[in-house]
Amino acid sequence: MTFKKRTVRDLDPKGKRVLVRVDFNVPLDKGAVADDTRIRAALPTIRLLQARGGALALVSHLGRPKGRDAKLSLAPVAKRLGELLGREVPLMPDAVGQEIARRVRALEPGDLVLLENVRFHREEEENDPAFARALATGFDAYVNDAFGTAHRAHASTEGIARILPAYAGLLLEKELTALGGILEHPAKPFLAIIGGAKVSTKMDVLRSLVPRVDALAIGGGMANTFLLAAGHGVGRSLVEPEKETEARRVTDEVEGNGKTLLIPVDVVCAPSPDEDGAAAAGVFGVDDVPSGQAIVDVGPRTLERYAGVIGRAKTIFWNGPLGVFEVPAFANGTRRVAELLASSGAVTVVGGGESVQAVEEAGLAEKMTHVSTGGGASLELIEGKTLPGVAAIPDR
Ligand code: ADP
Ligand code: MG
Repeated sequence: MTFKKRTVRDLDPKGKRVLVRVDFNVPLDKGAVADDTRIRAALPTIRLLQARGGALALVSHLGRPKGRDAKLSLAPVAKRLGELLGREVPLMPDAVGQEIARRVRALEPGDLVLLENVRFHREEEENDPAFARALATGFDAYVNDAFGTAHRAHASTEGIARILPAYAGLLLEKELTALGGILEHPAKPFLAIIGGAKVSTKMDVLRSLVPRVDALAIGGGMANTFLLAAGHGVGRSLVEPEKETEARRVTDEVEGNGKTLLIPVDVVCAPSPDEDGAAAAGVFGVDDVPSGQAIVDVGPRTLERYAGVIGRAKTIFWNGPLGVFEVPAFANGTRRVAELLASSGAVTVVGGGESVQAVEEAGLAEKMTHVSTGGGASLELIEGKTLPGVAAIPDR
């Protein structure tokens, strides 16, 4: 995909004070950053702007605070960012205000500070124009590198781009190029593997992908509704009977167009979908799911069929775990698919909260063509929706 938006490469930041929206909404554990993937993903843009003589302030949200909340301070993020950059990153006491404006104006070329959690102000999520103006005070340019928040029209992602000259950061560009590329010109055959809990949350993703793919593999909890639609019993599995018609429609559309649809042929069942059920779990054909048990993972024959289509595909998009992967005994299908993608020669793109987590836990993120840093944002993009944070950036 040719990226049409103005990017940081089109900006000469020398002598300018640049406000950079990053997505540092990272998991914390005991007051420290538990996973710094999103912080590391922002480094290329930060380094580029610094090397070219910009004076930078970074702005991000963390969690969902209701007003000021010390537990959701960005202090642990400032510390981790400082470690990654090898220099201390001062944390400003707030995101807006006279004191902040004064300190912004005092920034010198090459300086870097982090503003405090922008969601301490409810005007952020309200996309309040006055708040956006307050945020912009003292800055000459705005860069949006917060892909994970680009599907939200907030003051720091959307409103501000109407006030300051706006540019896309390198991460935003990379995400849009990778995810947009598989939608617009995937190398064929194009395989989509869609798992996760529910059909209802993936309907728009399926609607967008079905016309574009050559093969569709369905796993995870949502496969249960497809199994039901195909006339199989699913016992006490997670299932959405009210989505059976939708599942049948997807099935007909894929198969009716001579495309390949893979739904499970065998499954792992357990008395309960948690640790307690692990000891009594077993593999069953989809015609023999015990009425008192729940489907918790795809089975070995299903994985063999997955391996076949994965081996033939030139482009693979994967969203959603194939089983209840949080329980190690039910994580086999998800892990195996991560391995198959990692060792395939295809363009491999992984998007979605839990699927990305699974790939990272397996230590296979580096082996994929692209692992998205945006859960909800990556799915909205695949659904074909316009992301407000991207739309607000002018074309080149
Ligand atoms: P993603 O965040 O990657 O888009 P989802 O949020 O749609 O994925 O789904 C992730 C959840 O799906 C996981 O918590 C996992 O436990 C659940 N899941 C997968 N397979 C099953 C299943 N067979 N039964 C119940 N839950 C499942
Ligand atoms: Mg999820």
